[in-house]
Amino acid sequence: MEKDMKALVYQEPGKKSLEKRPIPTITQPTDAIVKIIKTTICGTDLHILKGDVPTCQPGRILGHEGVGVIDKVGQGVTALKIGDHVLVSCITSCGKCEYCKKGMYSHCLDGGWILGHQIDGTQAEYVRIPHADNSLYKLPQGIDYDAVVMLSDILPTGFECGVLNGKIQPGNTVAIVGAGPIGLAALLTAQFYSPAQIIMIDPDNHRLEVAKRLGATSIVNNKNINAVNAVMELTNKRGVDTAIEAVGIPDTFVLCEDLVAPGGTIANIGVHGVKADLHLEKLWSHNITITTRLVDTVTTPMLLKTVSANKISPNQLISHHFKFDKIIEAYDTFSKAVDTKALKVIIET
Ligand code: ZN
Ligand code: ZN
Repeated sequence: MEKDMKALVYQEPGKKSLEKRPIPTITQPTDAIVKIIKTTICGTDLHILKGDVPTCQPGRILGHEGVGVIDKVGQGVTALKIGDHVLVSCITSCGKCEYCKKGMYSHCLDGGWILGHQIDGTQAEYVRIPHADNSLYKLPQGIDYDAVVMLSDILPTGFECGVLNGKIQPGNTVAIVGAGPIGLAALLTAQFYSPAQIIMIDPDNHRLEVAKRLGATSIVNNKNINAVNAVMELTNKRGVDTAIEAVGIPDTFVLCEDLVAPGGTIANIGVHGVKADLHLEKLWSHNITITTRLVDTVTTPMLLKTVSANKISPNQLISHHFKFDKIIEAYDTFSKAVDTKALKVIIET
């Protein structure tokens, strides 16, 4: 029997390689081994490769997204069996600790975001998933696997951190700052609630065109024009009920502060590496709410149903396909998104 597999390994800041690694084995009774069918690359993987995530050690197999088939299960796994096709959640959760009982899986005392970070991830032919019963989702028959890969991370992230935290209601006005895959995921899932206006803001015209196709009512290129003026013009000088930050830099967070109407919400999704200014001298009297969170993936079962029923089509976020042997090429394409027009790339084993 074959004992080796191919895997994408983080070597050191600026360096990655496609290597042979031993196929993982069950180490805890609650583990499952998943043979990966499709995986993808996240902006977070690029952060790790730059050396921005010191908690991820060199030698780590990257990746926290994918679909696959159960190859082995530990004795403690009761909800899944060999041969089941599953979605791998980016968040591992025991389902039993204090945080899990609150539905805050991202802060699970024996999990959270560990996959492709503190344990080996999904950019490999096989992956070991701890707490398999709670961290894997059995796929409904006939569902589009490319679309499902978008449910490992970006769809629940856009929905939970942007749309739910942003308290989007029918008839509301929404601005989404950042039209990358996460901003576009927020755009797709915001439409569950029928907001009257969704204004997409980004410096990349291609991404704005995609946003328009996916349901944005207005697009603003903030490279060429002042986004605050543009949004005020679109909202009768009020600003928006919900401003979603989907970039993760100080400028875009401050832009959200400038866009939010009295009584509104700033919902942060971006991963911030440095401090951002909070203009309390202006906002203290505006009845606003600022929210932050990690994705808990508690909405994944609901999102699976909406994809299964064709209520949303997250495969529109996929721009490229690669075979696993070409994963280095897939990284090049994904990391040069402005030139390659890449959104999400699917990598098939
Ligand atoms: Zn991710
Ligand atoms: Zn837990």
